[in-house]
Amino acid sequence: MKVRLAAPFTEDSIVDGEGIRSVIWFQGCSHHCKECQNPETWPFDKGMEYDVEDVKKMIDNLEDQDGITFSGGDPMFQPEALLELIKHTHEKGMNVWVYTGFTYEEILKLKPIYKEILENTDVLIDGRFEIEKKTMSAKFRGSSNQRVINASESIKQGKVIIRYE
Ligand code: SF4
Repeated sequence: MKVRLAAPFTEDSIVDGEGIRSVIWFQGCSHHCKECQNPETWPFDKGMEYDVEDVKKMIDNLEDQDGITFSGGDPMFQPEALLELIKHTHEKGMNVWVYTGFTYEEILKLKPIYKEILENTDVLIDGRFEIEKKTMSAKFRGSSNQRVINASESIKQGKVIIRYE
């Protein structure tokens, strides 16, 4: 299986979730939010294609990381590869955060694999970036409409569990 990434890894990030994290940047996003900080990640034919097995090996080589954050672009546009990498991240004892332009409710209306992604995601930051709601004070998100959601817990309880207000 292949995955198209904008950049494979940023290591030792402290701004893309709790703890010390590596970020995997997926290529491709059709949400086209006004004043998106990463418009170069929008085209679905740019970036580089990797074999998922090779990305797993890169995950295996990480040291001293609490978790992996999947960002982009929007990782939800490559669900099969995303799920595979999420599961591998957990197998390696690290937690999983996912950034997406879809809302939690929109994701649940997509095909079944998306529910499986949520079941395996510790924390989901959802929703498009809305420049009119831009905030510097909200933890780990760019605009106040976005939510930091305990995703797997939300699926279990059948309601959205917010991690931070
Ligand atoms: S969802 Fe994220 S990557 Fe996509 S356009 Fe919006 S801010 Fe940019």
